[in-house]
Amino acid sequence: MENIMMPVILSGQENTDNKTIEKNKIYTDSRHYKKEKKIKNRINENNMSMAIDANSQNEGLARICVAAFLTEIDPTLEEMNDIKTAVSEAVTNSIIHGYEEGPGKILIKCKLKKHTYENDDNTYTIDSIIKIEIKDKGVGIDNIEQAREPLFTTKPELDRSGMGFMFMEMFMDSVTVTSQVGVGTTVLMEKKLSRVVKYEQN
Ligand code: ATP
Ligand code: MG
Repeated sequence: MENIMMPVILSGQENTDNKTIEKNKIYTDSRHYKKEKKIKNRINENNMSMAIDANSQNEGLARICVAAFLTEIDPTLEEMNDIKTAVSEAVTNSIIHGYEEGPGKILIKCKLKKHTYENDDNTYTIDSIIKIEIKDKGVGIDNIEQAREPLFTTKPELDRSGMGFMFMEMFMDSVTVTSQVGVGTTVLMEKKLSRVVKYEQN
């Protein structure tokens, strides 16, 4: 049976700033700790893959689908925005640079691994690793190291600012780029999230 997780805002805190609320969010599980302590040590995996046409209107679709896939781990607003921004940057790069705004397919694969384990203090922890792969069969990148430098762009005439890879690196824990000229580019991004869930005290 899936756990029922309810965000609870700690009482008496400042609630004028959304980020303050997000960061202080705690989670409760409606099962009674003593009666139904059943989490034990558990590892789950879930996968999603999708192929989209390389059109700029599909950038929003990619963001929403990845966000929907991640709802089961209930990321904070800030975490969700970080991941959505990183996905947007990689998908936009495939559209604008990979396919140079021409036709093509972008493959998006997401993998979610969850490790759930009991703690001694009426709580359990869910450690999650999210892996997102964005792949195109476009023109490829000649010099990956240079492409990843902040402010480097090959399309200044389109008002690109050369910040896409930097945002991906800022918002995700790791970013790996593999590419071959004339074959295509794959961006693999990973992020770890951790949740402590408190059993509801009856
Ligand atoms: P911005 O993202 O700020 O609009 P940008 O796209 O040029 O500008 P980055 O996203 O950092 O900046 O990418 C840097 C460069 O890497 C690009 O200018 C392009 O030359 C190359 N590049 C990135 N992704 C791809 C891709 N999928 N296929 C081919 N080239 C790419
Ligand atoms: Mg970019």
